[in-house]
Amino acid sequence: MCGRFFGSTLQPNCSVGMSKKKAIVIGAGIAGLGASVRLAVKGYDVSVYEKNDFFGGKLTSRNVNGFRFDYGPSIFTMPQNVTELFELAGKNPADYFEYTRLDPIFHYFYEDGTRIKGCSDTTKFAESVAENTLDSKETVLKYLDKVKEINELTEDVFINRSLHKFKNFLNKETVKGVLNFGKIDAFNTMNEVNEKTFDDPKMVQFFNRYATYNGSNPYEAPGTLNVIQHYEINRGAYLPKGGMQQISRSVYELAVELGVEFHFGKKVDKIETSKSKVEAIVVEGERREADLFMSNMDVYYLYNQLLPQAKRPSKVLDQPKSGSALVFYWGINKSFDELTVHNILFAKNMETEYEAIFEKNNVCNDPTIYINITSKKCQGDAPEGGENWFTMINVPNNVGQDWDEIIARSRKNIIAKINRTLGTDIEPLIVAEDVMDPRGIDERYLSAFGSIYGNRFSSNFSAFFRHPNFSKEFKNLYFCGGTVHPGSSIPLSLKSAEIAVGMVE
Ligand SMILES: Cc1cc2nc3c(=O)[nH]c(=O)nc-3n(C[C@H](O)[C@H](O)[C@H](O)COP(=O)(O)OP(=O)(O)OC[C@H]3O[C@@H](n4cnc5c(N)ncnc54)[C@H](O)[C@@H]3O)c2cc1C
Repeated sequence: MCGRFFGSTLQPNCSVGMSKKKAIVIGAGIAGLGASVRLAVKGYDVSVYEKNDFFGGKLTSRNVNGFRFDYGPSIFTMPQNVTELFELAGKNPADYFEYTRLDPIFHYFYEDGTRIKGCSDTTKFAESVAENTLDSKETVLKYLDKVKEINELTEDVFINRSLHKFKNFLNKETVKGVLNFGKIDAFNTMNEVNEKTFDDPKMVQFFNRYATYNGSNPYEAPGTLNVIQHYEINRGAYLPKGGMQQISRSVYELAVELGVEFHFGKKVDKIETSKSKVEAIVVEGERREADLFMSNMDVYYLYNQLLPQAKRPSKVLDQPKSGSALVFYWGINKSFDELTVHNILFAKNMETEYEAIFEKNNVCNDPTIYINITSKKCQGDAPEGGENWFTMINVPNNVGQDWDEIIARSRKNIIAKINRTLGTDIEPLIVAEDVMDPRGIDERYLSAFGSIYGNRFSSNFSAFFRHPNFSKEFKNLYFCGGTVHPGSSIPLSLKSAEIAVGMVE
């Protein structure tokens, strides 16, 4: 390990006086943590400044009266994006981070009594669909093959590399993608593709829901985004031992081991620049200089609040923002065999639900409800005989709605719908409670408008309107996180860190 000497870090085997280059990361969200590990491995002396007094950003955990809740993300796909960080650092991932593949992934409930089992085995899943809807097993399997193909044609172009470097388009994967452009459903919406594919409106609703995984509306998001289904249904969903928080905890511990310095409770207020370079950040009135700066914060706030002197990339920053979430964290003093780790109770009317969110900036009275229960697998997340229910509905981002009214109304509607589905009154079973709404998401993580995923995919070209992983104006400023390329979610945020650090000379 390197030692510290008058502010510079020395390698044990390097000659005295050869100091490492210094990198500053703004934000300790999962992307900031991933970037800090990658920069440390690259030989940088890394300092992370985080506004909150905890690491992980949205990927964090909270205890409420003896119940532990993963406070933000709950669906975990593409675990290799986490494990590769340990491999990169020459460690055995299993020493830090364990996870299991979920089977079933989901239980799905419709108001007419239809139930679908989201089995991990795609054939069994397709059989469950065929038994319970008008669509055949073959239709489902063909659709899953189609979204797999979309992934093969798009992954290298849209996910694995920067979309903003011309040289990245000069390779055989991109040429293949371009030649097969007609196959990726870019000019139909997700809903149009799903309506064409499935006879049963229940299956259209089923697959349209995946648009909400990045806060988008299936009636405007391009059909290419049906690729999201591939990541969950074809490739599988996982649960880390110890819950989702273990993802950020293990990466944080790795970063600390690699010598990354964390400064918690330190909000970066300003970025000082010269003509073509960032010179320093300002924290609590003090300047902190470095050779390289990596922003993990919401790119909208970065330009509006920290970098008002920069050329504002308005085309990127002023795109329609993603939706948000209203979450009730309920400690329940009973356990329900019909529920699994992930559960969906579908709205009666899909169109009304999306119209309320994306056109009326409101919430309908019969929303689709998602219930995540980690205590099904993680012992200790709830007291004996109880369950920890992360109960979420999709809501618009914050444009000044009366959230207290929406919360009170939605709480009543959600409880009534769960009662109808489970045939019991759950209200008296709620023994612990906490709530998160878009105002809290904005305040806690500095996510503009409480939007969870930055820009939403509102047109065919939305992928091109995410901020690049580098600054065109300041040569030592880089960007990672859910609001920049390639997108939000845990795996894509980690990908953004990989792309951004990969661009560092
Ligand atoms: C309710 C909810 C459910 C979700 N469900 C899923 C899911 O099931 N699966 C999934 O993959 N994803 C899900 N997501 C999305 C996922 O959490 C995010 O895409 C991902 O965690 C983003 O990570 P990040 O590092 O980019 O940003 P963040 O987690 O937002 O981290 C940014 C960090 O920067 C800090 N910061 C901001 N400004 C400053 C400043 N000026 N100075 C210092 N620090 C600053 C913030 O405090 C924060 O810690 C969900 C999110 C929420 C909120």
